[in-house]
Formats: sequence, structure tokens, C-alpha cells
Amino acid sequence: MARCQALSRFSEDVGSIRRTFLCPPMRDCHREVASWVAPFGVTARVDAVGNLRMFYAAAEPDAPRLLIGSHLDTVPNAGAYDGILGVVLAVALLGAIQGRRFSFAIEVIGFSEEEGVRFGTPFIGSRALVGSLDDETLCRRDAQGISIREAIQKVGLNPEEIAQAAMSPDVLGYVEFHIEQGPILENAGRPLGVVEAIAGQSRLEFTFVGHANHAGTTPMNVRHDALATAAEWICAVERYAQNTSGLVATVGAIQARPGVGNVIAGETRLSLDVRHRSDEARNAAVDYFVRQAEDIATRRRLRVKWNVLMDQSAVPMDPFLAKQVELAIGKAACAPYRMVSGAGHDAMILAEKIPSAMMFLRTPGGISHDPAESVELADVAKAIESGVHLLEQLASSAEFQRKIKHA
Ligand SMILES: [Zn+2]
Repeated sequence: MARCQALSRFSEDVGSIRRTFLCPPMRDCHREVASWVAPFGVTARVDAVGNLRMFYAAAEPDAPRLLIGSHLDTVPNAGAYDGILGVVLAVALLGAIQGRRFSFAIEVIGFSEEEGVRFGTPFIGSRALVGSLDDETLCRRDAQGISIREAIQKVGLNPEEIAQAAMSPDVLGYVEFHIEQGPILENAGRPLGVVEAIAGQSRLEFTFVGHANHAGTTPMNVRHDALATAAEWICAVERYAQNTSGLVATVGAIQARPGVGNVIAGETRLSLDVRHRSDEARNAAVDYFVRQAEDIATRRRLRVKWNVLMDQSAVPMDPFLAKQVELAIGKAACAPYRMVSGAGHDAMILAEKIPSAMMFLRTPGGISHDPAESVELADVAKAIESGVHLLEQLASSAEFQRKIKHA
């Protein structure tokens, strides 16, 4: 925890934590983490998209490897633990095994970009590992007009070497430790959770089109009020989600035009974010919300338009690895809690290519993306203990040994 706090010094902002993709403080952050793994005989290097890569060799040369990691970038005004704890905890694991070598190597990764702050597109670091960073993404520009490709060059890295940042074919799997960033474990009274799946996510934009008119001279019965219509629909969205198990639906942004106190709103633009572990349930919810928007708009004599901005399927974690994480938590004398992650994580990207699993740590008050973000010292100790059990279990598991032979 002291190390997470130490890394929070490396910030773009004075007095608060902000460390976005390839910013100068990230270099200092890398230097600090590298100094922690050096005593284990581990050399840290930075790949072409700025991921910090640290390789801890196996007992035998040329053995396959297990990846353990999380991200080192942050949102503006961040806490000290989101992502960071997962990297620092992986480094602590290397210390906790006290020089032991396993039948597999361990590569600890500090991903350069997960939050999507600088370029409005998340997971740049992990997407390089699975080889899904396309040219279109690399041409995206930040607020200063600098493209991802140029930003990479500016810090002295070579965008032509991105293909070499891809994970090697000998990778057995990926494990990520992360704070839950929600209240579920705390409410259940459990320190550690096993993630079974990462929820699928739909993002849409809706526009209700009515007529702007004078607030004083237009009688109520002839209005086409786009803001009142939006309000009715927002409440319908909330009601449906409240009555559907496992569903979360959020209208987080609304813009009314002309947006003046004495004018009836002629147009409203709204965001919609829908998440569920089941793609079927999520799609059914989205269909319902669209139908409701049409019904409410028609009844109030308005028009509605919508478009889909994002449609990300749910990502199941690897059942074998998740089971191993669950057993490891049990061995550390904790009752594991199986759960779904409502937030996206690097594990969601890596799971496209390799078996992936996540362990969640209880987040006091469910507070995250805020300076008040914290973890319990005892929970971190239990997570490290579980992590050591996990490595030992994998080293002695016949099923994992078979994977090693086939890697
Ligand atoms: Zn995170």
C-alpha cells in the first residue's frame, strides 16, 4: 500500500493523481517499479506502446509463461489503487515466493493505458498484446492534435515495433488482481472475490425532437416538449433496470436545446449505458428501451432517433483459472465470493486470446476513481497469500502441466 502511495507522486497534476498514456511522470513510475523488481534478478523493459514488461524466469529455460498484471495509467483526480495495486501486488508476489522458480515463468506487466483518458479509446496497452491495435486507432488524436503514433515517437519509442509487443505464443494465461470499485464484496462481508465474467456493455445515444417555443405563451396541451419526454423515458429506463436482476442501466448525460429557462426544449440528446453478464438479457433491455422511447415520443407527438455507439459482448473468465483463484482464496482462510465485473478491465481484452482470470479486492465504501479510493491492509495481505497459493497450485496442477507441455 505504501508503494501504491509512492507511485501516486508521479502525476501530471499538482496535488492530485493524473497519469495518462505516455505522459512524462509515467517514465518515473516505470523507473520506480523497475527498482523494486531488480533485487529478484528481473530486468524491466518498456515495449513499443509503453507497457512495462518484467520477466521472472522459470526453473528451466524456454518454459512457457504466466502473465500477471494490471494498468499503471489513471483517470484525472484518481485514487492510488485502481490498476496500480494489481501491478504492485504482482511485484509483491515475486518477493513472497522468495526466489523459488516454478515450471512456468512469470511475466509481470504494467499496462500503459486502460482508462481511455488521453485518446478517448481504452485498453491501448492490452490491445497491443493481443495484436488488435489497428491503424485507425493509431491515427486517433488527443486534445493537442497529437496522434497515438506521434505520441509513441515523442517518448522515444518506435511505433513500427508494436507488433513485437504482442504476447509470445508460449503464454499460458493471464491473472489480474484489481480493486472491485463497487460495494458488493463489502456488503457481502468478504475481502476477496473471483470474477466469473465481465459484463457486456451497450452504449447508445438518443435524440428526442419536438418544438422549441415560448414558455409563457404556449399552452400545455399544444406543446412538444423534448425535455419532459426525455424525463419520462429516463424514469422508464430506471424502472425496468430496477426490476431486472443483474441489469444496470444509466442515462448519465443529457443536453437540452436551446437550454434556456423560458423556452420549451425543442431537442434533447441523451446517453444510455446498459450492462449485464448475459448478452441476451442486455439486448432484450436495449430493445425495450428503444420501444419505450418510440412509444413515449409518439404519444407526446415528438420524433426520436438513436444510434448504437458500442456493443461489447460479455466476456467469460476461464473456468479452470477462476476455479484455481477460488481455491487459492479458500486456502488463505477466506470465503471466496463469485461475482461479475460491471467494469471493463485489461483481462477482458486478453481473454480474447488466452485463458484469463481476475481476483477482486474489497473496496471500502465502493469508492473508486476518486482520491478517497482505498483498500484494507489485511485484505491486501490475504490477496498476496492467495496469490502465492495460486502459483503453487498451478505449479502442481496436472491440467496446468498439460497446458505447459502443449504451449
Ligand atoms: Zn482499473
